[in-house]
Amino acid sequence: MRGHLLVDVPLIAAAVSLYPTCGLAPVGWLAAASAIIHGWAVVSPRSSLYMPVWWRVPGSRDCALTYDDGPNPEVTPRLLDLLAGSDQRATFFVIGSHVRRHPHLVRRMVAEGHAVGLHSDTHSRWFNCWLPGRIQRDLDACGKAIADAAGIPSPRLFRPPVGLKNPMVGFVCGRMGLRAITWTARARDTGSPAVEVVLARIAGALRPGGICVMHDGHEPGRDGVRASCLESTPLAIARLTSLGLRSGPLRATADGVAIGGSDASAEMVQPLAR
Ligand SMILES: [Zn+2]
Repeated sequence: MRGHLLVDVPLIAAAVSLYPTCGLAPVGWLAAASAIIHGWAVVSPRSSLYMPVWWRVPGSRDCALTYDDGPNPEVTPRLLDLLAGSDQRATFFVIGSHVRRHPHLVRRMVAEGHAVGLHSDTHSRWFNCWLPGRIQRDLDACGKAIADAAGIPSPRLFRPPVGLKNPMVGFVCGRMGLRAITWTARARDTGSPAVEVVLARIAGALRPGGICVMHDGHEPGRDGVRASCLESTPLAIARLTSLGLRSGPLRATADGVAIGGSDASAEMVQPLAR
């Protein structure tokens, strides 16, 4: 049973049973409680009410640095140089329309041992309002762009745009066998805050099993370059090194998600249990 039905069914049953004797007041309170629970489930990176989400990877010795909204022709190559220079691996949640314009960057990510995941084809603000058929067509298009660019099967890692979830996104994730990845902490670096601010925000993710979100690109149609990750990444790696940790690529496993592995691109082709 979907997790949210465990909330909705008892609330509806209580409302139906209370209405004849108590009127609308308790129904209103139950509706308010439902709205609060669902609001939390939509926005919280730790909520698995609609689908299993990985906001951390329990049992891992490594940390996962992840980058959203790329690839970007100005930032991503410099970021890849930086990661190669410090011998760290990361996960890139890419946008399909960017991949079609810069396929060589995705090829390079895979060739250098990084993981690549779906972040939708267009990063539409309406993604979370679409019906399942349209959500799946969008994710299929993003997966095809990655597969065509890098010569690998469509990834099984998925980060919902803006991190929002709902029962329809959960349904499609289940049908496609996707692993929904959220975060332990995020940089909120889209406005290019000071690097000290970014480091303070992501500190909680720089630990074993932590998942940290930064940005190396931006949504289609938006101007500007999100280069703050080029400043914050070296400092994050220095922090990890001082703690005796490394960043590894996320990978889908038969029963969940792991960090690290000898070959991230090969790990992505493993069949997944539905
Ligand atoms: Zn995004």
